[in-house]
Amino acid sequence: MDLGLADRTVLVTGGSSGVGRATVRALLDEGANVATCGRDAARLADTAASLDSDRLLTGVCDVRDADAVRAFARHAAGTFGGLDGLVNNAGQSRMKRLSDTTAEDWRDELELKFAGVLNPLHAARPHLNASDAASVVNVNAVLAKQPEPRLITTSAARAGLLNLAKSLARELAPDGIRVNSVCLGLIDTGQWARRHAAADSGMTYQDWQAEVAADRGIALGRLGRAEEAAYAIVALLSPRASYITGTSVDVCGGVGRSLL
Ligand code: NDP
Repeated sequence: MDLGLADRTVLVTGGSSGVGRATVRALLDEGANVATCGRDAARLADTAASLDSDRLLTGVCDVRDADAVRAFARHAAGTFGGLDGLVNNAGQSRMKRLSDTTAEDWRDELELKFAGVLNPLHAARPHLNASDAASVVNVNAVLAKQPEPRLITTSAARAGLLNLAKSLARELAPDGIRVNSVCLGLIDTGQWARRHAAADSGMTYQDWQAEVAADRGIALGRLGRAEEAAYAIVALLSPRASYITGTSVDVCGGVGRSLL
């Protein structure tokens, strides 16, 4: 099926690693123009070199910096002649329980999660308004529906974002902008490689992942791959998904709590 994304332009935040990078690759494969940002110039340069496309624009920018995000969105729209899609993907999780979470942790986490959606949205909005097939996809987590005590700030922030996405879907619908969420379970990306290193378990990465999958009750018995998450994101960006808004898709391999 032709997803109708050729010559469309999508801004993907956090495209220099993991799910964001896989999404950028998938969009380029569909013939779309892609603009992506991250904080680390070297990682962006590596992404640009490996994807090697004149339909890819990269820029250093922190999603918490509203002015920088606005300037990047304007540059992207100017380069490609507009914006049709936005993927709010940049972010990371915070491994904390209530007992070791400071007031600053709460502030930082809520700022990253909400600014990570609202700054790019405000920046992209004038350009999305001008598109005849505008779509916003928020990369969220199944934590939004069922919290994990060891990720207390991230779980609470994720739940708020899922709620926010529904408000946005309703408010932006008259402008023809669809808003949906993709809720990830455990996807094998840089985040998990870093956790494996930090765990210092003496296990191979593969064995450690199998143990994590069993511990979390993942029905498919493994972590997901970044391109499996990208598939759902790209499908929701597609003009073919023109009647889908205000909803969420779980990409989690049937993680136990989501099947309840
Ligand atoms: P990675 O750590 O592999 O990649 C994160 C990307 O976001 C990088 O490009 C990073 O670049 C960028 N980024 C992080 N913070 C900022 C910032 N403040 N401003 C701009 N860019 C930023 O993450 P994943 O691919 O694993 O995760 C993608 C999204 O999915 C994240 O929001 C994550 O929380 C969420 N998620 C992931 C899960 C998983 O199992 N992998 C599970 C549930 C949710 P740089 O560091 O250079 O800025």
